[in-house]
Amino acid sequence: MDFKTKLYMGFGSLLLLMMIPLGIGFSIISQLKNSMDEVMIVRYEKVRLADLVNDETYKISRYLRDLILLDNDKDSVQKRIEQIENSRENSLTALNTLDKIVIRPQAKKLTSQIKLMSISYIDFQKEIEADVKDGRRNDARHLLLASDQKFRDQLYGSNGSIKKLKELEEQTMSDLVDQARHSYQQAIRIYSIFIILGLLFGMGIIILSIRSITSNINKVTVAINKVASLGPRDELPRVEIFTQDAIGEIAKAFNEMASALEEQVKKQKMYNKTLQEQNWLKSKIAKISTMYSGVKDLQTFASLLINKLTPVVGGNYGAFYMLESQEERYYLSQIAVYAFDKRDITCPNFQLGEGLVGQCALENRIITLTQIPDNYIRINSGLGSAPPKNIIIYPVEFEGQVLAVLELATLEEFNPIQQELLEQVLSNVGITIDRIVNYMQVEKLLKESQVLTEELQTQAEELQIQQEELKTFNEKLDEQYKFSHQRAVELENIKVVLEEKASQLELNSRYKSEFLSNMSHELRTPLNSLLILAQMLAENDNSNLTHKQVEYAETILSSGRDLLSLINDILDLSKAEAGKMDVCPRVVKLKAIQEFLKRQYLPVAIQKGITFTIQLKNGLPETFITDEQRLLQILKNLLSNAFKFTEQGSVLLSIRKAEKRFTDKQILFDNASTMLSFSVSDTGVGIPRDKHIMIFEEFRQADGTTSRKYGGSGLGLSISNKIAMLLGGFIELESEEGKGSTFTLYLPYSLDSITAEAALGVEAAAEPDEPVIDEPGEDNAGEDNAGAAMAIDHHRDWLAGRKILIVDDDLRNVFSLTVVLEKHGVKVLFAENGKEGINALRENPDIDLVLMDIMMPEMDGYEAMQTIRQIHEYETLPVIALTAKAMKNDREKCIDAGASDYISKPVNVEQLLSLIQVWLYK
Ligand code: ADP
Repeated sequence: MDFKTKLYMGFGSLLLLMMIPLGIGFSIISQLKNSMDEVMIVRYEKVRLADLVNDETYKISRYLRDLILLDNDKDSVQKRIEQIENSRENSLTALNTLDKIVIRPQAKKLTSQIKLMSISYIDFQKEIEADVKDGRRNDARHLLLASDQKFRDQLYGSNGSIKKLKELEEQTMSDLVDQARHSYQQAIRIYSIFIILGLLFGMGIIILSIRSITSNINKVTVAINKVASLGPRDELPRVEIFTQDAIGEIAKAFNEMASALEEQVKKQKMYNKTLQEQNWLKSKIAKISTMYSGVKDLQTFASLLINKLTPVVGGNYGAFYMLESQEERYYLSQIAVYAFDKRDITCPNFQLGEGLVGQCALENRIITLTQIPDNYIRINSGLGSAPPKNIIIYPVEFEGQVLAVLELATLEEFNPIQQELLEQVLSNVGITIDRIVNYMQVEKLLKESQVLTEELQTQAEELQIQQEELKTFNEKLDEQYKFSHQRAVELENIKVVLEEKASQLELNSRYKSEFLSNMSHELRTPLNSLLILAQMLAENDNSNLTHKQVEYAETILSSGRDLLSLINDILDLSKAEAGKMDVCPRVVKLKAIQEFLKRQYLPVAIQKGITFTIQLKNGLPETFITDEQRLLQILKNLLSNAFKFTEQGSVLLSIRKAEKRFTDKQILFDNASTMLSFSVSDTGVGIPRDKHIMIFEEFRQADGTTSRKYGGSGLGLSISNKIAMLLGGFIELESEEGKGSTFTLYLPYSLDSITAEAALGVEAAAEPDEPVIDEPGEDNAGEDNAGAAMAIDHHRDWLAGRKILIVDDDLRNVFSLTVVLEKHGVKVLFAENGKEGINALRENPDIDLVLMDIMMPEMDGYEAMQTIRQIHEYETLPVIALTAKAMKNDREKCIDAGASDYISKPVNVEQLLSLIQVWLYK
């Protein structure tokens, strides 16, 4: 029988046993209820009705008495009678009911008796009522006293019928109650017996069931308790399965649970072990990583790391290499070691890829060595040494870039957890190295910036000081400004005065140059005819002059030329002073200069019996740029002086590159240029020291006495000096009295002649081969004039028959020119001014050439030429202008006005004839 069935049966029979006393109880209770109903409803009602009859009868007896004794008026009598009737009715109704419900014969008999007696009593009552109504109160009273007592005793007296009935009913009731009590006690007794029996039976079943269940459970409990007391174990006790019931199932489940638990315990143990390892790992990592959190340099960091990490991972030997670079070359440098033996250091540095360390860094890969040979390295202690069993080389990387390498060796073997620790620690080391490197950089920058800040601060302080100084200075300036403002006002006033003066000066200078120009013109014009005519006379064409007369004429010609030279000098000087001297730079050939000067002065030298040499030194440029005419003017002046002041010996012109440094002179060219020197040396009289400066002044000579031996105006050197300055150079003098003098002209020249040409706007192609030198009757020309004139005679036949018009207001000029031209058979026409000239042209269209003066009354030369050029047939007519050469731009003005060519006054006959020849043959 299984455990469940046992329990069902036990508790079922228990329930059944409890149902029996319950049934008995119910029947007893219903019996009791019936008895009680009988007592309560039937018996009690009968007693109550008997009591009611008794009470009403008693009331009526009292009413009757009151009716007779108390009620005197009609109304109260009526009222009382109504009360009596009311009670009578109640009593009769109760009596009728009672009669109906009584069953027993004795009770029935008593009820009938009471009925009969009640009817007699009612008659009696009615009799009394009638007496009272009719006023026979005494009769009524007698009646009442006589009979009422008898009725009362029969009905409700101590032996009355109502009393008897009542007692009978009460007796019956009391019997019923006793009967009920008896059956109640009976029932209780039976009930108790059944309950006790049921309990005993139930307990028996329970004990049996519990005993059969607990014995099996106990076995399981013992096994479980054993498990509990043993705690988690690899092996747990098992319960022997002896039944197939629920307990058997429990035992089976327990055994399964035990197996599961064993499994669980195993897993738990493994888990705990891993947990422990992880904890160890984490705590070590945490310890190591906190250790170098504040480290600020790589050396300390590496030492800390290797010293902590090596023992923790069970290493006995270690080295830390840092990737460093020098001049773009990377290598691994050993910066920290652990238990290192100096004898082991084969190489503290490795290139990338060199050795296993270098290879590890190159490949960014862990290298592990097992089976290490005895002589590889040895781990030493004081007591002995042994080769390591395991070597591990780890790269340290950050963002894929290897930063360092760690090499560790151990006598044991690195277990996985140690390797993991190594790996995890090193994976964080990259960041730390990067941080330290960054920190070091930042530190460096910070230091630099601190230095800068300090410098800035110093500068700021300096600035502040300067600012303050400036402020003071400003204040001073302010004062000065006020002062200078005052000054400025004063100066402004002075300036106004000065400006007035300046304009006056300018006016003066203009007057002066105008005066000079006019004077020059005025002097040249008479000089022109004088020279021409003197030349004609000296030529003595007709041979009608005596030898003496010819000599006079020649003297006049020579003096005239001197005078002309003086005029030219004065004009030059005034121009130079007024800054109006024009300079026309162009390419000059040194060779040409040499040739020209040789031609000019060799005859003079021969005449004086002096040797004359011109030297061009080595290293000279072929050409250089300057105003050729001005240069020649200076050189001619210097050479003329040399020949003038030298009686015997030699004159030497030496041209070279200047060798001196001119620190004492104001030089108006830049450093890229160099100087050319033109030295004119003679062996003449020389110049005393104290006169060296003076002779460069105007109108001054070394021999200033009236009895001086040599002529001259004293203008030549001062003009030369001024021209030299105008050309950007200067003149130096070296001389000793009685031994000779050397005048040296220094002129700048550009090394790069092409650039210079470009700068000057001069085209090299345009340069003339020979210097263009116009020499209007220079001092040297005097001697061979006669010869030249003769030569003309022979070669001017082509002039014969030509028609030339001279337009000039100065008749002396016209005369002299006419004489010269007519001598060659020219037909000469003349006009006094431009207007007349044009008229003459109109009248004589066959005129071959016009000689046009410029300064004329009525219509001047410019206007006349312009008008001529407007006339169609004279567009190409040769017109030669005769200029005074006084002003800078006279020549240009002539050409602009339409002149074919020009010639300056006083006219050189030879030159004029050549020009005419050129233009007539064009
Ligand atoms: P001048 O027309 O009088 O020669 P310069 O100005 O040319 O005027 O010269 C001024 C003076 O310098 C001369 O009068 C002379 O006394 C002196 N002088 C110039 N050149 C020489 C020289 N080569 N030898 C000696 N004295 C010279």
